[in-house]
Amino acid sequence: MPVILVPDSTVSMRKNRATHSVGRLVGMVVLTLALAPDLLCAQMASCSAPSSSLIQQVSTITSRTLGESCSLAQTIPGPEFEPNDQVRIPVVVHVIQNSACTEGGLSDSLVESQIEILNEDFGALAGTPGGGGFDTQIEFYLADRTPDGNPTNGITRSCNDSWYQDTGAYWETLAWNPTAYLNLYTNTAANARGYVPFLPAEGGGSSVGLLEDRVVVNWLVFGRNGAFPPHDQGRTATHEVGHYLGLFHPYFDGCGIETPPDCYTTGDRLCDTPPDAVSHDICPVGAMSCGVEVPIWNYMELTDDTCMTGFTSEQSQRMRCTLATYRTQLAESALFSDGFESGDTGAW
Ligand SMILES: [Zn+2]
Repeated sequence: MPVILVPDSTVSMRKNRATHSVGRLVGMVVLTLALAPDLLCAQMASCSAPSSSLIQQVSTITSRTLGESCSLAQTIPGPEFEPNDQVRIPVVVHVIQNSACTEGGLSDSLVESQIEILNEDFGALAGTPGGGGFDTQIEFYLADRTPDGNPTNGITRSCNDSWYQDTGAYWETLAWNPTAYLNLYTNTAANARGYVPFLPAEGGGSSVGLLEDRVVVNWLVFGRNGAFPPHDQGRTATHEVGHYLGLFHPYFDGCGIETPPDCYTTGDRLCDTPPDAVSHDICPVGAMSCGVEVPIWNYMELTDDTCMTGFTSEQSQRMRCTLATYRTQLAESALFSDGFESGDTGAW
């Protein structure tokens, strides 16, 4: 079965931008998100509470206008976004197969391996391929409670040809409250390796929490030792979750201006990620772009899975800013993972 996957559908969307203005991005959001509003949070029993430290971060940054610190246009890094506590994000993985249930199948253990890889990469766990990166102190776990509060292994399974082809608004049926869960779908991802439908800062965050708020990863590149080398070590999900938490590609705005403060408003809106002019594949060690060495090692490039080894400190800050600004109900502090989440104050 010959399969050709385009690297990342956000690539083509970004390439089509005529200018550096965000107008096209916002337009795209309007185009793709004229769908159901988020009704789930009001209907469901558990809209999980935000981490106490994130609340503190929000109150700290309100004074300089919430949203400015990790908007589409800029990043304002700061000590309040340094990782100072472990936050945990519940993930529900929706495995979608074709109608005959003969393609797209992923075992529970393969799904679990993908969560492990996310934690190795975001946590820069020593001794793993991501050990050379920056520890974001952002952790992921397969949800152990459904939105109704019932026990779950955090995996749903469906067989539907349309959904498998990434059409048919499957999220309207399958999504678990997107303000409280990272909804991660596997299907053919419209023949991309993966994508997110929007970046959280688009529209000032107005799309966050809609039913289609999600990460989509092609089942062929999902999990450890997957079916599609050299993209078989789970890094597509790492990359897409990076977008989901607010990161741009290093080549988003081309070379930009690579010195502070300008690099916070050009390139990928960060200064510690070397800019490059275009995306790169394979693993071109020593390649130069924009007068500097290409960050082939960065998860937000498009190189081979084994070529990628880390996020940077400022990528971590932008992701934690995004959690504190746009995804305030998503992350739980590990300190309060039981009583705080359930609202049972007796367990605190
Ligand atoms: Zn991407």
